Amino acid sequence: MTVKQKLFGMEIDALNMGQAIDCLHSWMAEDRRESCRYVVTPNVDHAVLWQEHEGLRAAYREAAMVLADGHPLVWASRLLGRPLPERVPGSDLVPKFFASCQERGRELRVFLLGAAPGVAARAARNIHERWPMVKVVGVYSPPLGFEKDPDENELILGRVMLTQPDLVVVGLGAPKQECWVAQHHGELAAKAALCVGATIDFLAGEKRRAPHWMQRLGIEWLHRMLSEPRRLVKRYAKDAWVFPQLVVKQWLAPSRTWR
Ligand code: UDP
Repeated sequence: MTVKQKLFGMEIDALNMGQAIDCLHSWMAEDRRESCRYVVTPNVDHAVLWQEHEGLRAAYREAAMVLADGHPLVWASRLLGRPLPERVPGSDLVPKFFASCQERGRELRVFLLGAAPGVAARAARNIHERWPMVKVVGVYSPPLGFEKDPDENELILGRVMLTQPDLVVVGLGAPKQECWVAQHHGELAAKAALCVGATIDFLAGEKRRAPHWMQRLGIEWLHRMLSEPRRLVKRYAKDAWVFPQLVVKQWLAPSRTWR
């Protein structure tokens, strides 16, 4: 049984990268279940959104694994006496899991859902080149607003059913990806789905990760903000204002029952 740390209402699994990868392998070794397991990767923005977004809270309740995506969550966990071992960002988990499939000689069937048209196909080419054991069996970039269109949802679920992947990599941005997967995991014909934001863009070389020194210093968010200022400045300003308040709240009332 994994230890779960309750932080700002979210229950986060105290797992390191190696343990998370082992867990994914154990799921892959099982037969498909009636409902597809899914993984969410909270960062500061999720912690802030979680407080007011019932859909995101519901998605977290049903998630099979909850992994801390960012350094600030890990730092806060230690400050609050509910330590997480390390950050396990989705955008590292995916390539590391693919590399481990390659090393173990285990074939993995993957469906890439999300990112702009053409990007997932480029990611698929890069994946096949780097990790030939990983077969991208389908890609789909749903149009804007797809989540409200029953026909689009049918189409996506149909494509996944047809291609029978082991894993669906979902890159639709938060909280859309978490809400969509939570809503449809009962009909998603895969063993697991990973909600991992811009990971498909990174695999395609469409967006660049922050340099390692920035990642180590815990300022990957700064790199992202500078690369997409119009979209992200407002969001990060809100997060920078609200997140410290959440830390202080939990510090002052550690046993406070969050919704
Ligand atoms: N995206 C998408 N469909 C949507 C909204 C977003 O495919 O309706 C993709 C977008 O192209 C990008 C990713 O979702 O590849 C956004 O990931 P990011 O982690 O930047 O999103 P965030 O969670 O930070 O908003």
